[in-house]
Amino acid sequence: MPIVQNIAFGYDTLAEWHDVAIGKRTGHIYSRNTNPTVALFEEKMRQLEGAEAAISFSSGMAAISNTLLELVQPGEQIVSITETYGGTNRLISEFLPRNHVRTRLARPEDQTGLETLIADGTPLVYLESPTNPTMQVVDIQRVCEAAKQAGAIVVVDNTIATPINQNPLSLGADLVIHSASKFIGGHGDAMGGVLCGRRDLVKRVFRYREIHGAALDPFAAFLLVRGLKTLAIRMERHNDNALRVAQFLDAHPAIERVFYPALPSHPGHAIASRQMRGSSGMLSFVLKEGGATVADVLQRLRLARRAASLGHVETFAGIPSTTSHVECSMEQRKAMGIPELLIRYSVGIEDSSDLLADLENALTL
Ligand SMILES: *Cc1c(COP(=O)(O)O)cnc(C)c1O
Repeated sequence: MPIVQNIAFGYDTLAEWHDVAIGKRTGHIYSRNTNPTVALFEEKMRQLEGAEAAISFSSGMAAISNTLLELVQPGEQIVSITETYGGTNRLISEFLPRNHVRTRLARPEDQTGLETLIADGTPLVYLESPTNPTMQVVDIQRVCEAAKQAGAIVVVDNTIATPINQNPLSLGADLVIHSASKFIGGHGDAMGGVLCGRRDLVKRVFRYREIHGAALDPFAAFLLVRGLKTLAIRMERHNDNALRVAQFLDAHPAIERVFYPALPSHPGHAIASRQMRGSSGMLSFVLKEGGATVADVLQRLRLARRAASLGHVETFAGIPSTTSHVECSMEQRKAMGIPELLIRYSVGIEDSSDLLADLENALTL
């Protein structure tokens, strides 16, 4: 697929141009609206999520903000969970209220709390599962059933799981969102976001994006399409490596607690086993007090990059206060159940024995 980098598309005749403009024939006019390379990325994501339609954005946050700003109107209330991605949390706690949208939040594992809020009336339920960084799991199917009864649509951020491990639309969700900057691209060199799902809803958000302008760049689309070619085998390796790392840390004397859904000790283990095919490449762990500090461990890791992202072929380690939840205060992180001694570890596709040796060395003073 060529990288069609041009902004405008020319027509020999005015009649042809006009037909494309009014949607009577297919074609492209201006790359803020549609572009062939970008359209290929959208089509591949549509198929991976089994959706009717898909549109892309310049970043994951652009996908989330455009979707929520179009689908929730002033005076309405949105239901979500306390433990969303830091940027999403700020959007729904700070920017949506400016638009007179009220935010109602329940803990991700609090099914009854979520159902009560949904029954109270909302056009939209916004979920993330597993969550970042403690990998809490929401029972997507049960929330979707409650939402359907109440006439609400359900949007799921599927960034951490990827379509290889989980398809929220098949569990009853109406829309699924990805930050393509993470596992989808996989190499940390292209930003993007995507929304997949019901055609009528995707169309509305497309119109919003056309005018608000958060379009995906064609070169980024090309890199994301290239990333997709290896998504399945990368996820296989991410799943496998993360499970090994989680089991190693779980048995390690310096570790207080490991958050990874494939571990039977994880509170979301049973739900994850039902709705996910693999547990993905993200985990977090809490150090025991009195041993190595978070700063010691992060400093001593050699294979893990100290950087704020996840889902890349390289292993990344960080703490929520400098990565996913840098936008939140210490009190907000505490309220979200994120311990301050927690290390977030995004497991890459390196040889797992190298990663285990690196962790052993970093944890042993
Ligand atoms: C990174 C991330 C986002 C935001 O994506 P950007 O591409 O950085 O804007 C949203 N949700 C989750 C779960 C993420 O990890």
